[in-house]
Amino acid sequence: MDADVIIIGGGLAGLVASNEIVKAGKRVLIVDQENAANLGGQAFWSFGGIFMVDTPMQRRLGVHDSFELAWQDWQGSAGWDRLEGDHPEDEWAQKWGRAYVEFAASDKRPWLQEQGVKFTPVVGWAERGALTARGHGNSVPRFHVPWGTGTGISEPFADKARAASDAGKVTFRFRHRVDGLIFDGGRVVGVRGSVLAPDTARRGAPSNRDVVEEFEFSAQAVVIASGGIGGNHEQVRKWWPERLGKPPRKMITGVPESVDGRMLDIATEQGVRLVNRDRMWHYTEGLQNWNPIWPNHAIRILPGPSSIWLDARGRQLPAPGLPGYDTLGTLKILRTTPDIAEFDYSWFILDQTIIKKEFALSGSEQNPDITNRDLALMLRSRLGRSAPGPVEAFKEHGADFVVADTLPELVQGMNALTDDNLLNAVEIEKVVRARDNELVNQYSKDAQTMGIRNSRRYLGDKLFRAAKPHQILDPHHGPLIAVRLWIVTRKTLGGIQTDLDGRALGSDGNPISGLFAAGEAAGFGGGGAHGYNALEGTFLGGCIFTGRTVGRSLARSL
Ligand SMILES: Cc1cc2nc3c(=O)[nH]c(=O)nc-3n(C[C@H](O)[C@H](O)[C@H](O)COP(=O)(O)OP(=O)(O)OC[C@H]3O[C@@H](n4cnc5c(N)ncnc54)[C@H](O)[C@@H]3O)c2cc1C
Repeated sequence: MDADVIIIGGGLAGLVASNEIVKAGKRVLIVDQENAANLGGQAFWSFGGIFMVDTPMQRRLGVHDSFELAWQDWQGSAGWDRLEGDHPEDEWAQKWGRAYVEFAASDKRPWLQEQGVKFTPVVGWAERGALTARGHGNSVPRFHVPWGTGTGISEPFADKARAASDAGKVTFRFRHRVDGLIFDGGRVVGVRGSVLAPDTARRGAPSNRDVVEEFEFSAQAVVIASGGIGGNHEQVRKWWPERLGKPPRKMITGVPESVDGRMLDIATEQGVRLVNRDRMWHYTEGLQNWNPIWPNHAIRILPGPSSIWLDARGRQLPAPGLPGYDTLGTLKILRTTPDIAEFDYSWFILDQTIIKKEFALSGSEQNPDITNRDLALMLRSRLGRSAPGPVEAFKEHGADFVVADTLPELVQGMNALTDDNLLNAVEIEKVVRARDNELVNQYSKDAQTMGIRNSRRYLGDKLFRAAKPHQILDPHHGPLIAVRLWIVTRKTLGGIQTDLDGRALGSDGNPISGLFAAGEAAGFGGGGAHGYNALEGTFLGGCIFTGRTVGRSLARSL
């Protein structure tokens, strides 16, 4: 036997599981198709946002949160509706969802701190939702940002795995791609696959798929922690749900190529039960990266509340199509409104005051101040006169930005950026003036204006995320800026159905002996703990919770 447990995938979920197993004195073999530079997977690149409930950081900022409120929000977002019949798709998803919210409201923060994760005092208010109490969205800010951004989450676990490797308890097999599970009398006893040719590609960059030889490894149990499908547009198109219209012809990619979904299809072919494959989490505020690391590299804007959101024809999106509110609600508007669904982009219109305060870019490399744990730089860049350096760089070099002093010039620039020539400056001016008119007194009937004021009542947003309400056409806040937004493929919400021990279920709904799944591959638990929508910052935590659960259950049972 090559180890007690084989883990397919050295991303966050695999690393967390590995650490728990090693702590119990067992030996782990981590097999990953990429090279050693990629240890940590997507988590390294992530913004690092972590959904937690009722923390000291929230309380310090005047936020009163509770498990009850978070669970109400989670259920409103999830909308699990596949609960009928034998072994329904949402059976375990719902149980995992509840267990996860309990974790987020109790053990998550102290445990992460014990593992070496340190949090900034910043708590963001992501995904404010669909504007009803029982619908999708966070009623309060819960998006906790760690020092180090994504690296502040992935590296403590990667460091532990590296140390365990030095001590002979973990063996890494990089450039080993798993092509199949090995069964013996119904029990999974190992994996087989292809050794890929050495490749020195830098972290995140594509690597070759040249096969040099084959391998087989055996163990008492196997954990699938191979991530989702976001890097594979063919898979995204295949599973794209009808309720979100047709997938765009052009999408940009929010994850490295290694997030290829291949292992999920292999698992299905070998009798593992995958559920909710039509549930995905793609963003509508994507920029084409002017300095890409992976092909078609997308950067997502984490927007504050004040930009005006226009469709490709220059009409304002209806609520809840507001910046920072309802990711899939907005995607649905864009993909199902008949006369705009044929276009693959939409627009933000804003000004320098808004970009300075409200644009954050998702990704560890886009936030050097927090990633490098530099408090002085963070205060300078988030509270200073210009937007943070990476945002200004996009404004200067990005293919999707137009900057102008007057609205007619701005619209001319927007039309020049596309071949479609759909925008009428007079009509867009009406939209912008109507919005500006809502700001001249403290009352309003406009949902976005009310939202901006609500946001400013939260200290965290007032300091860091929501510009003081002002008229966009006031030249003191100029220049004017337009940003063309694309759809970014990112997260997979469905996946391998698992029970609360993380055991993978077979097509008959019963656990497959010796097989476990964690992280995005497991739909972050049960094949769909998020249901249809996410409250954000829930994915890294989902890897941590499922990885820890699988690790502990293996530590108990082996
Ligand atoms: C830019 C960005 C920003 C993000 N921001 C946030 C955030 O702020 N908050 C949040 O909660 N989440 C965020 N996420 C999402 C989160 O990072 C991921 O959902 C999570 O890290 C997935 O981890 P994983 O371990 O399940 O999979 P992965 O990190 O994808 O790791 C899977 C590993 O398996 C390997 N693998 C796949 N197939 C095989 C095979 N057949 N054989 C061998 N190896 C294989 C891959 O090479 C990879 O190393 C972000 C993601 C990105 C990319």
